[in-house]
Amino acid sequence: MGSNNRNKPCWCGSGKKHKKCHLIREELNPLTRGDLEGYAKKQTSKKVCSVNNLFPDDCSRKIINAHTISKSGSLKEISEDGHVMGAKPSLSGLIKSNGKLGLEKVGIKKASTFTGFCSVHDKGIFAPIEDEAITLNDHQLFLLAYRGMCREIYHKEQNKGTAELMREADRGQNEMMQQYLQGQANSFGKGVDLALRDLRHLKSEMDSILINSDYSKIKHCVFELSEVPKILVSAMVIPEMDFHGNALQKLGLQDEAYDYIFFNCISYEDQGCFVFSWLTEHDEHCSRFIESLLDLNDDQVADAIVRFCYSFSENTWASPSWWESLVKPSQESIGDRLIQGTPLAMHPVDCLKDDHHRFNAMKISKRELRTHEKT
Ligand SMILES: [Zn+2]
Ligand SMILES: [Zn+2]
Repeated sequence: MGSNNRNKPCWCGSGKKHKKCHLIREELNPLTRGDLEGYAKKQTSKKVCSVNNLFPDDCSRKIINAHTISKSGSLKEISEDGHVMGAKPSLSGLIKSNGKLGLEKVGIKKASTFTGFCSVHDKGIFAPIEDEAITLNDHQLFLLAYRGMCREIYHKEQNKGTAELMREADRGQNEMMQQYLQGQANSFGKGVDLALRDLRHLKSEMDSILINSDYSKIKHCVFELSEVPKILVSAMVIPEMDFHGNALQKLGLQDEAYDYIFFNCISYEDQGCFVFSWLTEHDEHCSRFIESLLDLNDDQVADAIVRFCYSFSENTWASPSWWESLVKPSQESIGDRLIQGTPLAMHPVDCLKDDHHRFNAMKISKRELRTHEKT
């Protein structure tokens, strides 16, 4: 880059003058592990109430550490000595472990929490799934999906900050590396912006169900479990492929409004359930996704669900003795899945197909498709 370009906007798209941006980037000190950890800490301590837009008047604005998976019932039942097994796919964690991940012990006070509800709303809105008997009624199934969604949106908002951090990751690198890393940061940032556009729409649809108690707009596929499951989860994802290895939705397309599916696994009274939920307006891809799962028998579904959870959600929590009981190749297959979907690896289109690992994580006793269609 010639010296006459010093005052032109930098090639990286930051909007700054070249001389104030990448002209001097190679001489800067690289980001340290301390920089990354300090950043991660700042991100996870952001505090907002996810329903402040709906009920501003009674919002206490005292933001608490809200559990996405019920602490008193669910997490406690699979914990041992107050701990469960989870993944920490943080940027600094990946660097520490050279991109290899396994499950680590996490105290249940920290597992699955986020600072996304105020004290009043966390208690008030979720009382039917925290304080009442679980009967899998429409209200309860909706609340599971709603809480998982709020957590995902909270984390996607944080990803905006990650995109900014990625723009600094080329400090001290040569220009070729700078261009490569800026390209990575740009495409990540664009992905985050697109996701947030979709999620704002999704949230407004879910908000209207919450306010009007109109559960005809959401469908569920419920697997009842006859024993306490070994893993618990609460998350939401864009189904990219089905359980037979067929592609469904391709990520990263500018003009696409994606279909999303929610999934939750909880335990209660020595049993449990795994629930997929989706808006009827997202039926096109979600029903194909679910049909491919319902093609399988109950034992196959149980293993398929484990593959799915570890490929698609870091908010998956496991019983320590279950994790220890897995043979090494099965543990490694889970470790490989933890990296999928990070900037380091895409999801292979066949990642949900049977990989011959038997996980014994849940016993399905009943399946039900709840669609509210008039007959
Ligand atoms: Zn620049
Ligand atoms: Zn609130």
